[in-house]
Amino acid sequence: MIYKRSSALFAEAEKVIPGGVNSPVRAFKGVGGTPVFVKEAKGAYLYDEDGNRLVDYINSWGPMILGHAFEPVVNAVVEKAKKGTSFGMPTEIETQIAELAVSMVPNIDKIRFVNSGTEACMSAVRLARGYTGKDKIIKFAGCYHGHSDSFLIQAGSGASTFGSPNSPGVTKGTAKDTLLARYNDIENVKALIEGNKNEIACIIIEPVAGNMGCIPPKSGFLEAIRSLCDTHNILLVFDEVMTGFRLAKGGCQELFNVKADIVCFGKVIGGGLPVGAFAARNEIMNHLAPLGPVYQAGTLSGNPLAMAAGLAMLTELNSHAEVFIRLEEKTAYLHEGIAKVLNDNNITHTINRVGSMISVHFDEAEVVDFDTAAKGNNDTFKKFFHGMLDSGVYIAPSAFETWFITDALSYEDLDFTIAAVNKVSKFL
Ligand SMILES: *Cc1c(COP(=O)(O)O)cnc(C)c1O
Repeated sequence: MIYKRSSALFAEAEKVIPGGVNSPVRAFKGVGGTPVFVKEAKGAYLYDEDGNRLVDYINSWGPMILGHAFEPVVNAVVEKAKKGTSFGMPTEIETQIAELAVSMVPNIDKIRFVNSGTEACMSAVRLARGYTGKDKIIKFAGCYHGHSDSFLIQAGSGASTFGSPNSPGVTKGTAKDTLLARYNDIENVKALIEGNKNEIACIIIEPVAGNMGCIPPKSGFLEAIRSLCDTHNILLVFDEVMTGFRLAKGGCQELFNVKADIVCFGKVIGGGLPVGAFAARNEIMNHLAPLGPVYQAGTLSGNPLAMAAGLAMLTELNSHAEVFIRLEEKTAYLHEGIAKVLNDNNITHTINRVGSMISVHFDEAEVVDFDTAAKGNNDTFKKFFHGMLDSGVYIAPSAFETWFITDALSYEDLDFTIAAVNKVSKFL
């Protein structure tokens, strides 16, 4: 495929935007080469600036669960825009989307809207600290909760050591309050709690990890965390920015029948506009300003265009719950097809999948946490990525990302994708 115009646009962008992008993974650093510039998108397809059509498995990293330029969402935004784009005053539509979200998700009474998943997680942790009066948090290596300071902490060697910042600009003071645990390792979580008695405000987790590939929680893992939280007066925060309104109407609380104390949303809840949200039961949410002392605010929070997009999206998902079944079936079909082709071509691999999240790892060991995810063969992944791109299939330009399946994908698209994997397998 030809990427002449994309290359030229990237060169221009690099002069005025750091690295040419407004979010790092987009720069293709993990796979090499020049990022593809999108011109437009419809349904399951992206059309780039050079006129190539790409079957899209990123879907804006999750939000476009019903496909690009989904008409009910587009129409809702267009109609709203004609009536003014921001007021900084309450509007009825904020209550409408809040009522709908609260009705779809178990175990929440109130929800506060913000502008991104980052803000949602950052605010959820502040609320957890304010509510419990404790400072420390536990997060899991390989889980992503946005780019706010407390979360940019990498696994050191020992899981029970204090976190050290993995970005300059995050202070040691901030990092020391973030404890790192290994995903799917409950003994590790127990040890951290024992070593920090009465100091831990919350445990934040992606209930299905999606930012180190797709990693499901082992059976009983979430339940065990829940019970530790109950015993030690720790709040459990489910970061459902990726999984919320994707894996089920009610997200992972519904899927695994485990209750969280605070739930974070983003991605699907905004229908492709910048939206995040966090939600909890009244006793916790009432600690938030203006009802309570924990401060949180936003000039554009609850923005009418964003709320219109989100409301149209949630309305669609709420009234067509069969979408989740269809998505799972399509993803399972893709899973089987890719597994068969990789096996036939003797390519070492592991495929993880939950619902409409799937990831292909080029390693035969089970992928259950960050360490096992990091073992995958990155050279193979790079070749795979570029081969797929040349075949007209766009997957995330990083071995640590989940593929997001959209309902706009037809079975022909899935077959096209499996055929591309077959073709690419020949030279991996
Ligand atoms: C994407 C993501 C975030 C961050 O959301 P942004 O809208 O990019 O700030 C947080 N948590 C999880 C699990 C995510 O996948």
